Amino acid sequence: MTTGHEIECPGCGLILPSDDEVLDPDYNASTACRDLMYELTYYTLALGDPFFLHQVTVDAYAGQHAGPTVKPISTAFALAGLYLVFERGFTGRQVQRVHMEMGRHKREWPRFQRLNTAATMTVRDVLRAHDSQKTDAIREWARSVWGTWKGEESRIAALLTGHVTRFRSDHAFEM
Ligand SMILES: [Zn+2]
Repeated sequence: MTTGHEIECPGCGLILPSDDEVLDPDYNASTACRDLMYELTYYTLALGDPFFLHQVTVDAYAGQHAGPTVKPISTAFALAGLYLVFERGFTGRQVQRVHMEMGRHKREWPRFQRLNTAATMTVRDVLRAHDSQKTDAIREWARSVWGTWKGEESRIAALLTGHVTRFRSDHAFEM
């Protein structure tokens, strides 16, 4: 199907057609993979859902594309978001508020070590899902990304000491 060059995304491993083979170092991603993510974010931003699944989408993507060129704060925020959603029952909207709160405190953000396993899904799998299945696919993808970071759960939780209690909702949603 592809006649031109292909490039492997250093973050998620997707091999995609690419004319220029350019990487986006801020995301440890190929620009071809970033294009897929832009396409998905058009969809999630248009959802207008109270849960704010868009936040989970952004965090899943950043969590899957951690790497040496990515700022530690970007990965820390993404992992905090995935942790809060999958382990603490937060909504994407609540995660957004925690991120704002975290951003107010200037500090050194630690680097985290991923388990030596790849996520079972990528942004392309989500885009290929039928519209009626897309939100489920996003959750499944995000959960698979979170699974690759489970070994760091206690360090990520420690990062959030003080933030979780403050924003803990009495109407937590299940993912
Ligand atoms: Zn990628």
